[in-house]
Amino acid sequence: MTDNNTQTTFKASGVDIRGLHKSYGDNEVLKGIDLEVKPGEVVCLIGPSGSGKSTLLRCVNLLEQPNAGIIHVGGFEATDLDVNLDTMRQKVGMVFQQFNLFPHLTVMQNCTVAQTKVLKRSAAQAKETAQKNLTRVGLGDYGDRFPDQLSGGQQQRVAIARALSMDPTLMLFDEPTSALDPETVGEVLAIMRSLAKAGMTMLVVTHEMSFAKEVADRVVFMDGGVVVEEGPAKDVIGNPQQPRTQDFLRRVL
Ligand code: ADP
Ligand code: MG
Repeated sequence: MTDNNTQTTFKASGVDIRGLHKSYGDNEVLKGIDLEVKPGEVVCLIGPSGSGKSTLLRCVNLLEQPNAGIIHVGGFEATDLDVNLDTMRQKVGMVFQQFNLFPHLTVMQNCTVAQTKVLKRSAAQAKETAQKNLTRVGLGDYGDRFPDQLSGGQQQRVAIARALSMDPTLMLFDEPTSALDPETVGEVLAIMRSLAKAGMTMLVVTHEMSFAKEVADRVVFMDGGVVVEEGPAKDVIGNPQQPRTQDFLRRVL
C-alpha cells in the first residue's frame, strides 16, 4: 500500500532500558544504564571512544547479550529469553559507521533481499517498498548501480533505505557519518533530519554536535559505562553541568 502518509509518517515505538550491565570477560563496559527513548523521540548519545556507546546500541537488538537489565524495544521485552529475535529485530533498523552493503548486489537488491527472505514479501512488493525508500533518500534512480559505484554518502543513504525497507518502528544509528568524506556528511545528516521530522524514533550515536543540537529532543552523555548527564541538547551541549561532560565537549567542539 502506498499513499502520501507512508512517505511522511512512521509507526513509532520506543526503547526502555533499565539497569543494563554488560561485561566482556573482566571488563565491565556497561555499568547499569537507564535510558528511555519515547516513541517518535530523537535521542543523541555522545561520549568518548570506549565509553560503551556501540555496546549499548548492540544490546538493544541483542547483537550482544546483556549480563543484567531489562530492555523493552518495539513492543517486545528484548531481554525475555522467549522473545522471537527475528520478529523483534525487524522492528529495529540499524545503520553502522561502515555501511555493510553487500558489494556483489545492486542497490535495489541490497534493499530487497531481507524483505523477501525475512519478511517473505513478493519480489514485486519488495521492489516497490525499496523504490519508495530509495526515493526518500534521494536515490530513486540508482537501483541498478553497485555499491562501489557510489560515494560514501550515497552508500550510507542506501544503507538507510535498506533499513527503512523493513518497516522498522525505530532506528539505531552508530556514528553514521564518521567514515564519510566531509563533503558527503551533510547529505546523510539531511536524510536523518527528515526521518526525525517524519516521526521516526531514533537513537543516534554521533560526534556531530550541531546535528545533535538541532535535531535531538534529548542528549545523553556517557562515559566509562555510565550515563553522566542527560537533558535537552541546549543544556547538555550548551551548558553542561558535569566536569566530565565539560571536558569532553571542550575536546570535540
Ligand atoms: P564506544 O562505541 O563508546 O567507542 P564500545 O562500546 O565500542 O565503545 O567499547 C566499549 C569497551 O568495550 C571498549 O573497552 C572495547 O574495547 C570493549 N569491547 C567492545 N566490543 C567488544 C568485544 N566484542 N569483545 C571485547 N571487548 C569489547
Ligand atoms: Mg562505537
